[in-house]
Amino acid sequence: MASWIDLRSDTVTLPTPEMRASMAAAEVGDDVYGEDPTINRLQEMAAAKMGKEAGLFVTSGTMGNLIAVLAQCERGDEAIMGTLGHTFLFEAGGISALGGVFPHTLTNQADGTLLLEDIRSAIRPDDIHHPINKMVILENTQNRCGGVPLSVEYTRSVGEFAHSKGLLLHIDGARIFNAAAALQVTPAELAAPADTVTFCLSKGLCAPVGSVLCGSPAVIQRARRIRKQLGGGMRQAGILAAAGIYALEHMTRRLVEDHQHARRLAEGLAGIPGIAFEMGQPTTNMVFPSLKNEAPFTAAEVAGRLKEKGIQVGVVSERGLRMVTHYWIDDMAVEKTIQAFHEIL
Ligand SMILES: *Cc1c(COP(=O)(O)O)cnc(C)c1O
Repeated sequence: MASWIDLRSDTVTLPTPEMRASMAAAEVGDDVYGEDPTINRLQEMAAAKMGKEAGLFVTSGTMGNLIAVLAQCERGDEAIMGTLGHTFLFEAGGISALGGVFPHTLTNQADGTLLLEDIRSAIRPDDIHHPINKMVILENTQNRCGGVPLSVEYTRSVGEFAHSKGLLLHIDGARIFNAAAALQVTPAELAAPADTVTFCLSKGLCAPVGSVLCGSPAVIQRARRIRKQLGGGMRQAGILAAAGIYALEHMTRRLVEDHQHARRLAEGLAGIPGIAFEMGQPTTNMVFPSLKNEAPFTAAEVAGRLKEKGIQVGVVSERGLRMVTHYWIDDMAVEKTIQAFHEIL
C-alpha cells in the first residue's frame, strides 16, 4: 500500500522501477553449482565493500548471522553478545536451536557499545565446568539503542581485545552502510576488525530480498555448506542479486537523506509536550520517541491513532515508539507525521 506513510521499518522499502528493470535483465545460472554470474558479481562487490576476500549471498540477515555462528562455533561453545542485540532478541534463538551455541549476554551501554571490561569478565578460564568462549558479536548500527553507529576506534578495540584472547569477532552489520554514512567512514573500515560481517540489502538499500555474509575464503566455503543444510541454496537467484548490485551502486550514497529526515522528524516531535527522547536524538535513520507519563495515551494507542491517519509506526514498549526513515519517506511524509502527532497529542 504505497499510500501509507510506513515508518515501522526500513524493511518495508519496495524496489524502485530502475531496480526492477535491472532484475528483469539479470543474467542467471544455477548458483548451487556456483554458476550464477550475477550472484558471483554481487558477492565479489559485497566482499570488496566490506574489505573481505569472499562473500555469500543469503536469504536474510538472520540467516547470515546464524551461518556466521554455525561456521565458526561448535556445539557447547559460547558467543558473547548484547542483551539488546538482534541475534539475542529477534533471531528465534537460532544459534542455540540449530547450533547448540550458548549466548552469553552483556548489557549494551546507551551508546550501543559493550564495555571492554564486561567482555573481559565474560571470558572464562579454561576449566571443564565452562563452555568455551568462541566469539563476540557486535551490531552496527545498534538498532535497539537508537540505531547508533559504533565507531571504527571502538570496533577496533573490541577486535584487538577479542583476538588477543583467541576469540573471533562477528559484526551484525545489517545497517553498516548507515553507520558508515553517519560516521563518514567506509564500511570496510568499520568491518576491518571483524572476522565476519553480515549486511542487509533489503533494508535502507531497498532490495526486496537478501543479505551478504563476508569473510575469509575458508569461512565462506564452510558457510556455503551450512547455507545448503539450512535450505538456503538458491538456484537462479541472480534475479535477486541484481537488485543487490543495483542497491550497492545506487542506494548507499543516499542514506544521508534518510538520516536528515530522521533528525527533522525528531526536531518536529521535540516541540510536543508529552514527548521525550530518552534514547537520545537520532544519529542514523531511527527515531525513538517516548511518551512521558503525563501523556494521555500509551504507545500502542498513539500508534492506533496514527494508523487512522495513514501512518504506521513501531511500538517498542508501553511508552516507546520507533520510526525508521527510508527511501519512500520524503520531506512531505515527515511533515505530515509531525502534524499528525501534534493533532493526537
Ligand atoms: C533486520 C536486522 C537483521 C536481519 O533481519 P532479517 O529480517 O533476517 O533480514 C539483523 N540484525 C539487525 C540489527 C537487524 O535490524
